[in-house]
Amino acid sequence: MKIARVALDVPLPKLFDYACPEAGERDVGRRVVVPFGNRSLVGIIVAVSAETDVPAEKLRAAGPILDDMPSLSRDWLALARFAAEYYQRPLGEVVHAALPPRLRRPQPLRLATAAYALTEAGRAALPTLPSRARAQRALLERLASGPTSPASLGSPAALRAVIRAGWVGAVPAPRAPFRFVAEHALIAAQAAAVAAITAALDRYQAFLLAGVTGSGKTEVYLHCVAQALARGRQALLLVPEINLTPHLAETLARRFSGARIVTLTSALAANERAEAWLAAHTGGADVVLGTRLAVFAPLPKLGLVVVDEEHDASFKQQEGVRYSARDLAVYRAHAASVPAVLGSATPSLESWAHARSGRYRLLELPERARPGSRLPAVRLVDTRTDRAIDGLSEALAVAIRSRLDRGEQSLVFLNRRGYAPVLVCGACGWTGGCPRCTAHLVLHTADRRLRCHHCGHETAIPRHCPTCGNVALAPFGRGTQRLEETLAARFPGARLLRIDSDSTRAKGRWDAMRGAIVAGEAEILLGTQILAKGHDFPRVTLVGVINADAALVAVDYRGPERLFAQLHQVAGRAGRAQAPGEVLVQTRYPEHPLYQALARHAFAPFAESQLAERRAAGFPPFVHEAVLRAESEDMRHAIAFLQRALAAAPLSQDGIALFDPVPMSLARVAGRERAQVLAQSRSRRALQGFLGEWVQALYGLRSGKVRWHLDVDPIEF
Ligand code: ADP
Ligand code: ZN
Ligand code: ZN
Repeated sequence: MKIARVALDVPLPKLFDYACPEAGERDVGRRVVVPFGNRSLVGIIVAVSAETDVPAEKLRAAGPILDDMPSLSRDWLALARFAAEYYQRPLGEVVHAALPPRLRRPQPLRLATAAYALTEAGRAALPTLPSRARAQRALLERLASGPTSPASLGSPAALRAVIRAGWVGAVPAPRAPFRFVAEHALIAAQAAAVAAITAALDRYQAFLLAGVTGSGKTEVYLHCVAQALARGRQALLLVPEINLTPHLAETLARRFSGARIVTLTSALAANERAEAWLAAHTGGADVVLGTRLAVFAPLPKLGLVVVDEEHDASFKQQEGVRYSARDLAVYRAHAASVPAVLGSATPSLESWAHARSGRYRLLELPERARPGSRLPAVRLVDTRTDRAIDGLSEALAVAIRSRLDRGEQSLVFLNRRGYAPVLVCGACGWTGGCPRCTAHLVLHTADRRLRCHHCGHETAIPRHCPTCGNVALAPFGRGTQRLEETLAARFPGARLLRIDSDSTRAKGRWDAMRGAIVAGEAEILLGTQILAKGHDFPRVTLVGVINADAALVAVDYRGPERLFAQLHQVAGRAGRAQAPGEVLVQTRYPEHPLYQALARHAFAPFAESQLAERRAAGFPPFVHEAVLRAESEDMRHAIAFLQRALAAAPLSQDGIALFDPVPMSLARVAGRERAQVLAQSRSRRALQGFLGEWVQALYGLRSGKVRWHLDVDPIEF
């Protein structure tokens, strides 16, 4: 009897056995349609076996094996298995999170195949074919001379049979070799980095490319990608935001003429995403550029992994399988014996610590790459003496005015969208809160709504106070919409562009805005962190930071690291071309060490002092963490579940610290109360061993209406 062992997307930590007479070893890594309850699900065959523990009367028969794409490789399955074990999720959930949505549906794909070619198994089988298999034989012989388009292969039935047998597979259309277009002569530091990385192209080595803003990290990536491609390999390039992909995709297309570049993000339509994924899978894509989900792209010829802005929190998936794409990217490089390059102007403290310990190799780009371009001068504007009016200090207003006079661009950074973060009644103190979250409703005047930025709940702006009837409700605080109003009033006639997730929501909007910025059609850009990350706007010579002090009062130990990275990144937008840049940071605490370090562009000393604090306090990267979270409509139920979970924890807790259940800092979101238990250990292995046992016990607990999950290496508390 043949048993297919199938990974299914169900929240149980096991594989499911089905009778599958047609299954063979060649089907490992193929999709199969199976009955589950009264549903039909698509799963991945991870093993084929002769036996099963499922009693014969309970064993169900698998439906068809889908052979619409080449099977997933053992390497890819090993990646999924590693992620499942490390993040303590069922393999089926990981596999399904990793597949593009189109492939999770129990229907065969109908994508055009460019060409077919013999597999190794096919080459071996050809001489052994019995002479009566005439059609198959003819087909294999035809393919032995090279990849061939389906149209010229004749009998579809014979083709299906040889694909099923694993003798023939889809391959990309043959094309001319690519050409790398060099645009700049590398400066010395870039050349040294490229030399170090390319010298390691045939083995694993992780590099931390710590390069100041504008130091030409992208150029280093491109040169390394060129070398990997020249060896017939594929490159994986991860960026933290969808917004960063179009520009980089353009650059890649321009610089690698003839190469196939695919983009993988959640913004793609289902078919486009499946096509891009398959292009990676069949080896047709030379470069896969994408956001965190692209870390799961199957890459049979992987030759180089690059993670740009590696410090960015967006690389951590915050729901479902809570993986870190940066960490999985390093795992992949290791598994494939190829280099990983992690780049940032403000590396994460984890990576910085690895570089110090020698686990990663540190490559530094201490200067800007463009001739004549220097790091901007950072000035701290003390708002205790230069009082901000409507958010703007006199110093910043003067600086913007001078840019307008000179025809240069200013960028004003305020990391808060909407008009005002809260609506207040001056008479009774009522504030507009979200009924579903422990959060205020943000005032949006553009469409006259109050909106929750956590759950999306929204209402019309009330005409009077719901508690006392007062009609004079006032906005408190400032968001980008309000600042836009102020700037428009202060600089009449100046061309303003507000850039936040409200103004860029519609597809293509951000791309159009970026074009307008680069073309010089806007004079003052104001916006949130969308503007801070990785963009190159050569006309910007002034950056103004409006209200960063709020973030100084950190809610968790990562607060300072995040704030420094954000401000350093946004400051780095200034003066990227010849004209010198200037950064003004408005603050009430100019003497604060974080601002002092920022003003001196002193990342390394800042990182060292943060690491010293973390070491003293026993925080990552000096300990490893995981949290067990529980969510319920009622906080008491969540806490009670966590208490039972603690009672069910394995008895052997050597080197593991388990803390009491506490509500999360944002306790309620979308009507659900959230609490968690923190587990810490100095040993990653001890923590992994403990979690592995604990999670088994957790699956056995009755949780009622409480939903729970483990988050390994959490970044939210
Ligand atoms: P980073 O990603 O390190 O902030 P970028 O890669 O965006 O920096 O490079 C900043 C600017 O410098 C870009 O406009 C790029 O074209 C330019 N540049 C990079 N390398 C060189 C070089 N060797 N010579 C001249 N200009 C360069
Ligand atoms: Zn009131
Ligand atoms: Zn809400």
